[in-house]
Amino acid sequence: MNPSYAQIRARVDAAAQAAGHAVRLLAVSKTKPAAAIRELAAQGQRAFGENYVQEAIAKQGELSDLNLEWHLIGPLQSNKCREVALHFDWLQSLDREKLVEPLNRFRPPNAAPLNVLIQVNIDGEASKSGCAPEAIPALAAKFRQAPRLRLRGLMAIPAPADVDARIRAFTRMRGLFESLRTSQSGIDTLSMGMSDDFESAIAHGATLVRIGTALFGARAPVS
Ligand SMILES: *Cc1c(COP(=O)(O)O)cnc(C)c1O
Repeated sequence: MNPSYAQIRARVDAAAQAAGHAVRLLAVSKTKPAAAIRELAAQGQRAFGENYVQEAIAKQGELSDLNLEWHLIGPLQSNKCREVALHFDWLQSLDREKLVEPLNRFRPPNAAPLNVLIQVNIDGEASKSGCAPEAIPALAAKFRQAPRLRLRGLMAIPAPADVDARIRAFTRMRGLFESLRTSQSGIDTLSMGMSDDFESAIAHGATLVRIGTALFGARAPVS
C-alpha cells in the first residue's frame, strides 16, 4: 500500500468540491520504477505522467497487462514525435507549430486521437519550454488540419516563486484557458499544480493536477 495515495486523493477531491468543478489527478512517475506504478494502479490510479519518452516506453512494456493512461509532460524534441504518437494517450507539452503535422501523421488511424495540451511559458522564463501566451491562437488553429489530434486545453509550470506570484500565474492561465474555450470546442483541461501547490491551483481553475513527490516520495537528484 502507498499510504500517501488515499490522502492525496482526498485532498484533491476536497479542493475540487470547494472549487465546484471536477479535477483529475495525474500521478507523475518519472524516475520511479514500474513496481511503484503498479502499486498505485492497484489502488485505482489510472493516469500516469512521464518526462522522458524512452523511460516511459520501457515502463509501458512492463505494465502492458494494465489498462493505464500515459501522459508525456516533459519537453518534446521533434525527433520523438513518432514515438509519442505511437505510445502515449496525452501530450501535455506541445509548444510549437512544427510538431503538429508529424504528430498527426504518425498517430495510427486505429488509435483514438492523441489528446494534446499546449504548454504555456506563463512566467516568460528563458530556461523553460512552453509557448508565449500570444502564440496560443495560432498554435490552436493548426489543429484544424490535424484530425488525429485532439486539442484539450493548456498546461503550465509556473516559476517556483512566492505564493502570490504563483497565484497570479494561475489566474493568468485561467484567463487564457477561458478565452481558448470560447474560441473553439472540445477545450476542457487546464493542467497546473504540483505537489507543493495543487490545492491553490485547483482553487484557481485547474482541472488536472500533476503530482509526483507527494505520492511517490522524493526523487533521487539527477547526477
Ligand atoms: C516532475 C513534474 C511534476 C511533478 O512535480 P512534483 O513536485 O514532484 O509533484 C509535475 N509536472 C511536471 C511537468 C514535472 O516535470
